[in-house]
Amino acid sequence: MGAARRLACAAALLAVACDRGAPPPPMPDGERAFADLVAQVECGPRPPGSPGAARARRHILDQLSLGAHRVATQEFAIRDPYGADSLRLVNLQASFYLDRPVRVLLGAHYDTRPRADRDTGRARDLPILGANDGASGVAVLLEVARALAVWDPGIGVDLVFFDGEDYGQEGDLEYYLMGSRHFARTMGPYRPRAMILLDMVGRRDQRIRVEGYSQQMAPELVDVVFGVAESLGVRSFVREPGPAVVDDHVPFLRAGIPAIDLIDLDDPSWHTLADLPENCAPESLADVARVVLHSLARLAGR
Ligand SMILES: [Zn+2]
Repeated sequence: MGAARRLACAAALLAVACDRGAPPPPMPDGERAFADLVAQVECGPRPPGSPGAARARRHILDQLSLGAHRVATQEFAIRDPYGADSLRLVNLQASFYLDRPVRVLLGAHYDTRPRADRDTGRARDLPILGANDGASGVAVLLEVARALAVWDPGIGVDLVFFDGEDYGQEGDLEYYLMGSRHFARTMGPYRPRAMILLDMVGRRDQRIRVEGYSQQMAPELVDVVFGVAESLGVRSFVREPGPAVVDDHVPFLRAGIPAIDLIDLDDPSWHTLADLPENCAPESLADVARVVLHSLARLAGR
């Protein structure tokens, strides 16, 4: 390591990938990620089995085709608890650095809630557009995918886009987390070193506190990710206890995998028709992508 390199490392902030000359991750492009958020919203509401969900899948797969080392889909069906038909669900997976036995799983749900049940009046029966609750996590994952196409974190990475996270009526827990539960149930011997879930990570002025189950069951992973955020000076990550949320990380915690949920549940537009791009910001997406990329390098032991 030469003097110039040492200087660059000193400037690039402590506690982040610097040793052994490993290059730091590229800087995420918030505007490009925001365009992915808008593109999903323009697909319309995206509950399981909907035309909007099919359009969103096409957008996600188009973006992944540009750089992922392998892309796969996982289809399954359930009986629709709220309708006469069966419901077809599809998880999408993009993998990078296929030969690495040590892997990290990054997840987000791409489905959106079929009813705005936190809204008022007749709006409660209408589907949401899910700019923050749905599109934001996917947008960050797509930006991470573009980084992984040109930057090697030193570890294998799998991105999974879950269907059917937000389908159940309130209290009807069996019909939440359908995609992630199916993935965890069918993953065989696959055991990632860590799972990081992104859900509601795009709000303007967001505050991502420490989700309750994450702190309780994966405190070391909380330390890594919030430590990275702190070292990068990303102030939207706030190391205070947040609510415990039954979310797509729970099936992985149940399987014994350290898993955390990065979520800002303080969004006043949550599960309402007001969950729109105007409440989201490119900088929020870029900040989360940056923390995730640097966390990958940390999890690789760099
Ligand atoms: Zn939701």
